[in-house]
Amino acid sequence: MFIVKFMKTDTCLHIPVEVAGIEVISCSECGEIGWFRRGQWLDPAEGMAILFGQFDLVGKLEALSAPAPEVLLYRPPTGRWRAHLDVFDKGVWLEAAPNLWLSHDGEHLLLAPTDPIHFDNLLSV
Ligand SMILES: [Zn+2]
Repeated sequence: MFIVKFMKTDTCLHIPVEVAGIEVISCSECGEIGWFRRGQWLDPAEGMAILFGQFDLVGKLEALSAPAPEVLLYRPPTGRWRAHLDVFDKGVWLEAAPNLWLSHDGEHLLLAPTDPIHFDNLLSV
């Protein structure tokens, strides 16, 4: 079994969590998300697709205190998929990938793309 090492920075301790066959580091202190599979770096787009690829787009929201002008709201198809949200702290914006911020309210995934061009194919890998 491969294990991602804990990564300590000056301000925080990054602890990987296993979910859906990958390992995710999510840190509310510095806003970072790290994606790994069997201890190897994983492309963030692939990690996002593994955790959220079956989520349905519900609509767009006016961004309230989000890092991007527009926020996209997604709904999980089942409780098993919803549980993927629990890897991340609720109500905190985290940088899931370059130009893409992620948050959730416990029920819905919120994505704030700061670069819409990069965003279009993200969940359709
Ligand atoms: Zn951190």
